[in-house]
Amino acid sequence: MKKLSIGIMFLGLLLAPFMGSKASANIVQTNDTYTYDMMEKDLDSLDEQFKDLIEVYNIGDTPYGRDLYLVKVGYGDANVIYNGSHHAREWLTTTLNMKMMERYAQAYNSNSSLGGYNVKDLLHNTTMWFVPMVNPDGVTLQQFGLDAFPKSVHNELISMNNGSSNFDRWKANAQGIDLNRQYPAGWDSVIAVNPTPSWKNYKGDHPFQAPEAKVMRDITYILDPDITLAYHTAGQILYWNFNVEQSNLARDRRIASKFSTASGYRMVDTHSGAGYTDWINQDFDQPGLTPELAVYQGETNVDPSKFQEAWVRNKHAGLAMADEGVKIHTKKEKNTEQKTVYVDQKAKTNILPSNQAAPYEQVQNVRENYHLTLPESVELYSWYQNCQACTLQDQQAADIFDELVHFTEKDSKKNIIQDKTWTITLNTEMDASSATKENVYVMNQEGSKITNPSIKVDGKRVMITSPKSNYQSGKSYTLYVKELVSTQGKKMEHPVEMTFTVE
Ligand SMILES: [Zn+2]
Repeated sequence: MKKLSIGIMFLGLLLAPFMGSKASANIVQTNDTYTYDMMEKDLDSLDEQFKDLIEVYNIGDTPYGRDLYLVKVGYGDANVIYNGSHHAREWLTTTLNMKMMERYAQAYNSNSSLGGYNVKDLLHNTTMWFVPMVNPDGVTLQQFGLDAFPKSVHNELISMNNGSSNFDRWKANAQGIDLNRQYPAGWDSVIAVNPTPSWKNYKGDHPFQAPEAKVMRDITYILDPDITLAYHTAGQILYWNFNVEQSNLARDRRIASKFSTASGYRMVDTHSGAGYTDWINQDFDQPGLTPELAVYQGETNVDPSKFQEAWVRNKHAGLAMADEGVKIHTKKEKNTEQKTVYVDQKAKTNILPSNQAAPYEQVQNVRENYHLTLPESVELYSWYQNCQACTLQDQQAADIFDELVHFTEKDSKKNIIQDKTWTITLNTEMDASSATKENVYVMNQEGSKITNPSIKVDGKRVMITSPKSNYQSGKSYTLYVKELVSTQGKKMEHPVEMTFTVE
């Protein structure tokens, strides 16, 4: 055993100089101004390099047509949300979010630990969800000024900037709304406000007025996070407590302390109100933390040369929160019941968006009715957000439904008759020629395939007739149906697996 591992190590060393540059080349550059365009390009590269581990969803548009992105990293049942750049000039937080995704995914792939956390285990228990740039219009205005915006709005932007065409201090979105004063938690009584659209501190006419805040609302309801972190940059402190309920105080203090210890940021109660994590504290009863990454620089962005220190302080702290997410999640009551889904034309109609309810409510309804997984729900939300004119006739409805085709593990069955014919009903029509002995079969307790059950596929139904000699009394078997292909060419993603015991 020892000899073998030395041999492998030696081979590894020989190969390293040739493989190393490609395998370990970093995608996210942290030593310069980090722009919206760089983020889009890096998200493409991360999505491609890390396959299923990293998934990127387009979840909506800004008023100036830039895209908002949600990134899924990991596979766990617990959900932790990380986000950056609510405030335009605080785009160093986007650099941090992007670096976290990349570094954690690298550690997952190399099965290595970071700060004492086995990242692979962690990401099997927790899914990290990143919105790396909540305010791409504002970030772009702060970084590039008027040149990045249509001439027709230059005067308006200058006027919201108190007559200046230097936008270094800009915090708001490009409509002059402060996105971190857009949440319904103490919104009425929020202090230090500008009465009209401005480069900072205008809270809007009402909560969730800005499209960017609406998207954050939707995605937060859909993900129902166990812990939330909203990164800002002013002051190397950790805001953590906006009127947290007495019953949650010990829990939240413990979690904030853990972040504080890892990062070195001092814990401070929040009083301002209308912020994203204020809303998390108040309406979700979950920990919502606001780390301020750097020493306050005055009314401008933090210089990228400060990134390295922020990274050292935050890389393990981010993992610590994913770890805490698991503990919170296991305490929540979760409905784990799974049912077979049968979907007919009526159901297809039901998943189309209507204008009657907020998008997240529509997603939640579909999720409940059709037992979608969380990633499927996010996929559906992304589709809603990008569907310009969905109508009942829209072929896209059928297409998205196929994307969401959903198969489940079934409960085990007892006292089954010896010549049982099973009928498994799926939620879409299957191509009969895709059913073979390789993907539809029955195994006995010893792990051998039963010979000669007959398989028939008829539309949505798969029928498996018992072998000629019948199933044996008192024995258990497991039935598998997997990798069938629908008549529209989609492969089923989750196999049906069912154990049964014969009477
Ligand atoms: Zn801020």
